[in-house]
Amino acid sequence: MARIGFIGLGNMGLPMAGNLANKGHEVAGFDLVRENLGQAASRGVTGRRSAPDAATDVDVVVTMLPAGRHVLEVYGSGVLEAAKPGTLFIDSSTIDVASARAAHRLATEAKMLSLDSPVSGGVGGAEAGTLTFMAGGTKAAFERAKPILEAMGKRVVHCGEAGAGQAAKICNNMMLGISMIGVCEAFVLAEKLGLSHQALFDVASTSSGQCWSLTNYCPVPGPVPSAPSNHGYKAGFASALMLKDLKLAQEAAAAAGATTPLGAAAAQIFGLHNAWGEGGADFSGIIHLIRGKQG
Ligand code: NAD
Repeated sequence: MARIGFIGLGNMGLPMAGNLANKGHEVAGFDLVRENLGQAASRGVTGRRSAPDAATDVDVVVTMLPAGRHVLEVYGSGVLEAAKPGTLFIDSSTIDVASARAAHRLATEAKMLSLDSPVSGGVGGAEAGTLTFMAGGTKAAFERAKPILEAMGKRVVHCGEAGAGQAAKICNNMMLGISMIGVCEAFVLAEKLGLSHQALFDVASTSSGQCWSLTNYCPVPGPVPSAPSNHGYKAGFASALMLKDLKLAQEAAAAAGATTPLGAAAAQIFGLHNAWGEGGADFSGIIHLIRGKQG
């Protein structure tokens, strides 16, 4: 069993750290919010006074933070000096590829092993320990991280070198954002044509229009009982997080010279949805914007 420092005990980090403790790892955690440390204690995670404190005398440091600047702030806050050489640093936050590569560089220069390993699966997956991890880094770092990640998730994929995990995450979520808008447009067109939601679902879910947005998160109530559309569009996967990922994809596309016109349009459309004050709602609630009527 490993000694693990866990930095960032928010919506995702708290249950993830709790699952590590449940599986028998010795977990020490830190978050800027004191209340989160109290909640972590009830999940078997020992609270520490600072990020460097949480990185002291451990084998692995996991970070689960809002954005790239927070990760670089924590990496620059003394954690790399506090950790012993050879400590494995796993960053599971969703951040921009450039910051992920900068974090790898800092860790490597400090003689640490490092992995970017963002997740898919949301808070539900974090609680249930069924997250998917997409990892970027050396084979050695990946092999050491695998059993730790498996204690928090059901699938762990090594995507390539430094930054490849973040690249996989934003490419996947760009597809998801685009496909959700496409599905919404089709349902709104069907409404105008007098075609029932169920009829469109029955055809498209077994035809070439089939996709995850349709069959798992169907944006109209009815066809998929577990979808957020049947529960007042409660997230699920919040529109604000979709917008964050689409913006990261656009930043990466601009930096790499990739042409992503539908990704750019999706970022604009989710930007409008957030400007409507719907950032906390599930991203499938974008159908209200496509219909032109607030839900
Ligand atoms: P969150 O805001 O609930 O948690 C982030 C935590 O980091 C907060 O508790 C905050 O206090 C803490 N923090 C910030 N700066 C810190 C610092 N310098 N030192 C210590 N703690 C610090 O966010 P979340 O929903 O847990 O998401 C975390 C990451 O996971 C994000 O990058 C997000 O994009 C990604 N993600 C979230 C979901 C989701 O459904 N919530 C799904 C997939 C990926």
